[in-house]
Amino acid sequence: MARALAASTLKRFRKMLEDEQTRLTDVIREIEDEQEELRLTETSSERSPDPNTAEGGSLAFEIEKELSLHQNAKDLLSQAEDALQRIGDGSYGFCAECRTAIPVARLEALPHTRWCVTCSAARY
Ligand SMILES: [Zn+2]
Repeated sequence: MARALAASTLKRFRKMLEDEQTRLTDVIREIEDEQEELRLTETSSERSPDPNTAEGGSLAFEIEKELSLHQNAKDLLSQAEDALQRIGDGSYGFCAECRTAIPVARLEALPHTRWCVTCSAARY
């Protein structure tokens, strides 16, 4: 039978997720600042960057790289927020699919996970 996590364990995961949330919020803010800088670089240059030149190509690449980092950080942030919400409503630590308790060791490694190993493997 599924067993709820001890309050002290939940508290520890809450702390881990909140730290993660803070870190990701900072990362996202930094990326947004950099994107703004890149945009300024792009619009302030005399000619618009030509993707066929090395300079234009690398700028386009930079922007693309920043965008995917940004998306990735936002995904992780929403997962951390989700997990914090589940701690609040008592569903944290149980697989969203099969409802079994997720082993603490797995939560230690992936505090934001919603699935047990089996269901997670089945998803990907
Ligand atoms: Zn499961």
